[in-house]
Amino acid sequence: MTGIRTSVESLGVIGSGTMGNGIAQVAASAGYSVTLFDISQAQLDKALQMISKSLTKLSEKGKLKESPDQVLKRLRTTTQLQDLKEVHFVIEAATENREIKFKLFSELDKILAPGVILATNTSSISVTEVASHTQRPEWVAGMHFMNPVPLMTLVEGIRGLATHDECFKQVRAVAEKMGKVFIEAKDAPGFAVNRILMPMINEAFVALQEGLASPKDIDTAMKLGCNFPMGPLELADFVGLDVCLFVMEVLHRDLGDSKYRPAPLLRKYVEAGWKGRKTNRGVYVY
Ligand code: NAD
Repeated sequence: MTGIRTSVESLGVIGSGTMGNGIAQVAASAGYSVTLFDISQAQLDKALQMISKSLTKLSEKGKLKESPDQVLKRLRTTTQLQDLKEVHFVIEAATENREIKFKLFSELDKILAPGVILATNTSSISVTEVASHTQRPEWVAGMHFMNPVPLMTLVEGIRGLATHDECFKQVRAVAEKMGKVFIEAKDAPGFAVNRILMPMINEAFVALQEGLASPKDIDTAMKLGCNFPMGPLELADFVGLDVCLFVMEVLHRDLGDSKYRPAPLLRKYVEAGWKGRKTNRGVYVY
């Protein structure tokens, strides 16, 4: 087994969508030199615009140590995977698709120097299985950021079956340098956050379906009765009902327990195209 790369100054981020652009922004703000890779140049252009806008907003609120330009100077974009050859650590946040991720990990494994860690931001794919597509499973781990990355403090760290302690230490150190709080979860469906959050959201749909209370009262119950900042139905609209359904399907299939059965009403909303805020209609109309 090759030894781990000890000093990390540069980061590669794979995928420049919702999560990738947030991860790249926070990493560059933390002082890392970042190479952001995507197969789509249009998506990279869009990501740069979003990052620039977000940095300007944070700077206006006094939440940035440097000027947005100074942060942006540490960020470059590419559509060539080979350009990641020299990076010291990689965070993959490409589309949630098994084949895409397996292919990326296999290719990155060949391109990157030995001992460079490959972390995946997957929400639902086994980290152990992703790692099996490389010759360095000991240097692969899960690094699950929350959306929106610049605002949400948590990173769930996930050990695959073969993940080395030194690898996990470095994953934690990188997350902490990015200003995040790191928790450790097992490589099991939903990890910690979604394993607990999604069944709660699903149960809110079951309650709604049974006419237990109105949507607004269900949300108020959890906000005022449990001190949640958002009610479960409001949160579901924010996350996307299709995403909630997808996670419930994964929990149901992979854990094989009927308690994870997706609420029929949740499925109906998704079938209707009522996917939440992004479609201007979910449980609520926007
Ligand atoms: P997204 O659809 O917004 O972005 C995915 C990006 O990946 C796109 O820009 C796409 O062009 C790019 N891509 C596709 N194939 C690629 C390839 N072969 N190489 C490089 N880039 C490629 O998706 P997202 O919401 O940012 O999710 C990315 C990852 O983060 C997924 O694994 C998802 O499960 C995880 N995640 C998402 C959230 C969330 O709330 N959106 C939260 C936590 C984790």
